[in-house]
Amino acid sequence: MTTTPDDRTPAEAPAAPAAPAAPSTEPQLVEGDCTVPLSVDVDPSAWPAPVQALAHTPGSGARPTTLAELTTLRVGGPVGRYVEATTQSELTEAIREADAAGTPVLVIGGGSNIMASDAGFDGLVIRDARAEVSLVSDSVCGGVEVTATAGTTWDDLVREAIASQWAGFAPLSGIPGTVGAAPVQNIGAYGAEVAELIASVRAWDRLRNRVVWLALGEMRLAYRDSRLKQSLSDTEVGGGRLWGPTGRWVVLDATFAVRQGSLSSRIAYSQLAGTLGVELGERVPERELREAVLELRRSKGMVLDGTDHDTWSAGSFFTNPILTTAEAEHLPEDAPRFPVTDHSQVVLGTKEAPVIEGLVKTSAAWLIDHAGFTKGFAVEAGAPAGLSTKHVLALTNRGGATGADLARLRDAVVVGVRERYGVTLVPEPVQVGF
Ligand SMILES: Cc1cc2nc3c(=O)[nH]c(=O)nc-3n(C[C@H](O)[C@H](O)[C@H](O)COP(=O)(O)OP(=O)(O)OC[C@H]3O[C@@H](n4cnc5c(N)ncnc54)[C@H](O)[C@@H]3O)c2cc1C
Repeated sequence: MTTTPDDRTPAEAPAAPAAPAAPSTEPQLVEGDCTVPLSVDVDPSAWPAPVQALAHTPGSGARPTTLAELTTLRVGGPVGRYVEATTQSELTEAIREADAAGTPVLVIGGGSNIMASDAGFDGLVIRDARAEVSLVSDSVCGGVEVTATAGTTWDDLVREAIASQWAGFAPLSGIPGTVGAAPVQNIGAYGAEVAELIASVRAWDRLRNRVVWLALGEMRLAYRDSRLKQSLSDTEVGGGRLWGPTGRWVVLDATFAVRQGSLSSRIAYSQLAGTLGVELGERVPERELREAVLELRRSKGMVLDGTDHDTWSAGSFFTNPILTTAEAEHLPEDAPRFPVTDHSQVVLGTKEAPVIEGLVKTSAAWLIDHAGFTKGFAVEAGAPAGLSTKHVLALTNRGGATGADLARLRDAVVVGVRERYGVTLVPEPVQVGF
């Protein structure tokens, strides 16, 4: 979407600025006036360049008939019924009817966080095909509120945000998938999480069969976790039942509240500072930050690329284990230990994520590597599923792998790490049919 100045005319018109010598498109700032909109209105042609972000783009190519076509791991058997909904009511009605009939439902986005079995999915697979971004409010004092429909490609929102100077999105550049899935596992990268940006979501509550509004606090966004995700495995959150492979709440749209600006937050990630050629703690233009993030992500196979098998993955396959301080004492001395932080309390540029006491995050990649699973590992020579040759944390399809091949690799890594370190790794992608 491009926003025209008329879309964001404030309710009370700002005091008329002195007539400029030449027509200007720049916002006119009047002292003490909180209503002046500051977003920069940029034509999409001037947005940062796109990256591949979805396994399948709605409306493109042949109609998918298997989960292999709909997921970035490119495995998974036939789908029962596949629907691309172009309106909210089409989406919610189809889900309501399926739930009433006891038909399993899989709401799919970019398919970048799903590992599907070869048995496929005998139910409704539904894609929200709506991709709309709208500016809700925009003022020099109040910051920016933007709403994006669930089907919007996450990285397209990031690109529009950077071009429009809606600050804070750049560290999350290049993460595949959709806006609707972003809060489900509270996507994060390079020290940032979507919890810092998101204010609320509107969702279809499958338990109550109605649209609800969930504020940030109600979603309980934590490291790769949320109540939306917990409803897959916790009956209490699910209102008395387990939901899955899609949770109790189907996100319809998400609203983000951020400040305006073209400069990033302080760079807190040393690898990123190195790529940018700046000191830790410096701030850089968000456009530059995006390029540095994409460069680093590409070097690790974390930007989708059909020609690179290291990216035929679901990204990081295991979450970094969160241990109690007592549990962490059993780790080898040289194992990484990071603080666990609460990003839902971040106020960008003002308040950093507070540390949660009593918890320690270690590195799944370190455990995997030190348990003997090095880059490119496969359970046997020439197997079609293997660890990425760029990053041990990604399980990849080398071409022709099945769900069973990936499951064998997953299990080998889990068992190997548990035997060596007593830590059970937890897969990050949603497992469909396993
Ligand atoms: C190369 C690569 C790199 C990655 N890098 C990162 C990273 O840096 N950080 C990170 O956090 N993740 C990363 N991921 C994982 C993935 O991109 C994210 O989890 C993303 O948010 C998944 O979005 P999706 O639309 O593809 O979801 P899908 O894979 O389609 O679905 C995942 C789950 O979300 C549910 N879901 C989808 N849409 C909705 C909705 N509207 N409402 C409710 N539930 C819904 C699905 O039912 C399913 O349970 C990476 C993946 C890949 C392949």
